[in-house]
Amino acid sequence: MITKIAPAVVVLGQNSVPVARQIISILPGATLYGLAGRTSGVDVSFTNFGDTLRELFAEGTPLIGICAAGILIRTIAPMLSDKKQEPPVLAVAEDGSAVVPLLGGLNGVNDLARRIAEALDVKPAITTTGDIRFRTALLSPPPGYHLANPDDAKKFISDLLAGAQVKLEGTAPWLSNSQLPIDPNGNLTIQVTERLVTSAPNRLVYHPATIAIAISDIVNIALIQQLLADAELASASVAGIFAPITLAVNPAIKAIANALKVPVRFFTSNQLENLTTQGYSPAQAIAINATGSSPLSSSSSHLEIAIAPTPIDPSTIGQAQGQLAIIGTGPGSPEWMSPEVKEILKSATDLVGYKTYINLIGSLADGKQLHESDNREEIARATMALDLAAEGRYVAVVSSGDPGIYAMAAAVFEVCDRYPKPEWESIDIHVAPGISAMQAAAAAIGAPLGHDFCAISLSDILKPWSIIEQRIARAAEADFAIAFYNPVSKERTWQLAAAQNILLQYRTPDTPVVLAKNLGRTGQMVKVIKLDQLTPDSADMRTVLLVGSSQTRTIQHSDGRISVYTPRRYTEQKI
Ligand code: SAH
Repeated sequence: MITKIAPAVVVLGQNSVPVARQIISILPGATLYGLAGRTSGVDVSFTNFGDTLRELFAEGTPLIGICAAGILIRTIAPMLSDKKQEPPVLAVAEDGSAVVPLLGGLNGVNDLARRIAEALDVKPAITTTGDIRFRTALLSPPPGYHLANPDDAKKFISDLLAGAQVKLEGTAPWLSNSQLPIDPNGNLTIQVTERLVTSAPNRLVYHPATIAIAISDIVNIALIQQLLADAELASASVAGIFAPITLAVNPAIKAIANALKVPVRFFTSNQLENLTTQGYSPAQAIAINATGSSPLSSSSSHLEIAIAPTPIDPSTIGQAQGQLAIIGTGPGSPEWMSPEVKEILKSATDLVGYKTYINLIGSLADGKQLHESDNREEIARATMALDLAAEGRYVAVVSSGDPGIYAMAAAVFEVCDRYPKPEWESIDIHVAPGISAMQAAAAAIGAPLGHDFCAISLSDILKPWSIIEQRIARAAEADFAIAFYNPVSKERTWQLAAAQNILLQYRTPDTPVVLAKNLGRTGQMVKVIKLDQLTPDSADMRTVLLVGSSQTRTIQHSDGRISVYTPRRYTEQKI
């Protein structure tokens, strides 16, 4: 076949060189041809575009022109005579946005277009209907069908394109309603079955996802495989594992599902009650609920297999294990959000949180159910999140900074501990950490938390001021650097001055204080003052304060910048 010759990538200007190089990187041996005077750094320089192209075409060189399709067509047109002989010719847009196969349909132009388009991350503009129709239909069957012998498909498709007829055994609307040349006497066969059958080059086998495996208790995966083998069923036809919700937290159920590469779905006892009260075993009830069919005979009371008349979409049956992720977005900017948190935000179905924090997520919140609430109703919010997760949803409770630091994680665990509900037992609860305001503040100014430190919230909404007062005194006495959260709010204005007075009993007035406001958000402000300069209007509810220990030092740089750090080495304070 002609296409054994390595392709020529042809460019008319320097702007096209980057795309050309990108294409060449996936086509070993390809040569870059560039118009002399307009391009540099190419493999071959040419002066006459038309002659060069026609020469290459005549030799059977596959041509990839980074130019308008029309230029290629006009240039090659006089040469077109034998479609069996013509090499692939493709036009690619200079910005890599379009890949258009033009000629050489019988010599792999569409495959070449697919490879190039994949490298450029675009869809190839394939227009040969026979190829699209059969290829996508047969090689990528719709969800719910698995092709058992893809290696046979290529030959099978070329036979079809050459005019062969195909016999359909079994039912699959996507095949019977397709444009395939179906004929009961065809010499090609497509078989749709959940049974284990022998495939062959002239017989494509599709396994429909019709089998439900119902388990009412953990069973050995080998037992499942044995049962499938005894019934001569293909494991590729298994649509899912179905189980009671009480098994959701058992890691063995996930291992079974992973081994069979299928999802696992759960039923509550309420959903099974109707059948179990009629005398069905829990496993039988699950099998019937999942498929609408009676189970096959089984050897274990905890394991049943049933086959549905049409493919099962597990996402529509029962429920998933509920997931509750309590996530910290970091202080604000996206680069301070952990990759784990971003992953969770992609998968979550529901977001629960204070509006400001949900806004921090930006477009990652798109398409999710939002449950915004008042910042103060932590217990109500945690309860709502758990209830949603118990229904099988994937709920992300959103906090700023770290979710375990003055934020929602503790509230969720408190609700689980003090007001437990049985249906919450099946939820997968996970905390995903974030960068806390004190870390972001410290990083912005140097290393003020470089030695022992503690964090104190000045909010007396959830704890009495007497405790806060005591804690500040002890922390100051113990010479911790101290991060103060929630320093001031509209209703709480005097606490900061009170804290300052306590601190001044243990620290010198020139102790460095870092004021960090709106970290990672618009209006970020970080400044360093001395302890005695602190006033209530130095801070607001979006400010975190870092008060140095006796060892904390300030460096004044020659360009005016200031750094603050607390050395890790300790020199005894001279009093
Ligand atoms: N979970 C958060 C803290 C929530 S408490 C965390 O780990 O950062 C709310 C307090 O945190 C605010 O009053 C303020 O003191 C501090 N804070 C939160 N985000 C901040 C930011 N972007 N800049 C400065 N301080 C912030």
